[in-house]
Amino acid sequence: MRHPLVAGNWKMHGTRASVAELIEGLSRQALPAGVEVAVFPSCLHIAQVVRGLDGKRVAVGAQDCAVESAPGALTGEVAASQLQDAGCSLVLVGHSERRLILGDSDADVTRKFAAAQSCGLTPVLCVGETLEQREAEQTLEVVGRQLAEVIDALGIDAFAKAVVAYEPVWAIGTGLTASPEQAQQVHAAIRAQLAGQDAQVAAGVKILYGGSVKAANAAELFGMPDIDGGLVGGASLNADEFGAICRAAGN
Ligand code: PEP
Repeated sequence: MRHPLVAGNWKMHGTRASVAELIEGLSRQALPAGVEVAVFPSCLHIAQVVRGLDGKRVAVGAQDCAVESAPGALTGEVAASQLQDAGCSLVLVGHSERRLILGDSDADVTRKFAAAQSCGLTPVLCVGETLEQREAEQTLEVVGRQLAEVIDALGIDAFAKAVVAYEPVWAIGTGLTASPEQAQQVHAAIRAQLAGQDAQVAAGVKILYGGSVKAANAAELFGMPDIDGGLVGGASLNADEFGAICRAAGN
C-alpha cells in the first residue's frame, strides 16, 4: 500500500525570520497519520529547518544537488553527501525551473538522481510538459521520454526508492491546475511505463501531482487512484494552508 506524501517546495523564498515563523506554524499543524510530509527549503535554511522540526513528523529535503555525489571542486554546488550530512532525506531533481531556466539536461537530471541515491537520499524526479507541448498533444510523449531517460540509464530498480512528481509546467505558479482527470491520465501513463519494466516497483512508486495545488483543490486531485499526494509550491509557504493540504491527503 502506498502512503500519500505531501511535499512543500519553498523555492528561493525565506529569511531566517520568515523560516522561523513557518517552522512554528508547521509545528502547530495536526498532521494526519499515514500521510508523509516533507519540506524543501533553500539550502541556506536546511540546517535551521532540520533543527526546528526535530521530533516532528516532517522530513526535510533539498531542491537540487550536484551531479557529483562527493564533495569536491564544483564551486557553488552542493553534493548529495553534504545534504545527507545536513539532515536531508530527499532531494528534488529535474524541477522544470531547473530544466527550463537553469539548463539542466536530461543527462544532468539522471546524474543527480544517481548521486542522490548513492548517498541514501530519495530522489523526487520531476517531469512535465509545457503548454505548447500539451496543445500539440505531446504530453505523454514528453513525460514518457523524461522518465525513460532515467529508467534506461539507471534501471527500473532505481525506482524502488524514488518518487516521481508530475508537474505540468503551465500549472506551476500560474493558478491553473490540471483537472483531476487530466492529471490522472498522465499519472496512469507514468505507472504503466514503470509497470512495463516491473509491476511490483510500479505499484510501490509514489507519483505526486504538482501545479497550483491548494487546500481548495487538493482533495479532488488526491482522490484519483494514481495520485499519491502533491508537490506544493506557493501554498506551502503558508503553514495553515499547507497543513490543510496535508489533511486532505489523509481523507
Ligand atoms: C512547484 O514549484 O513545484 C509547484 C508545484 O509550484 P506551485 O504549487 O506554486 O504551482
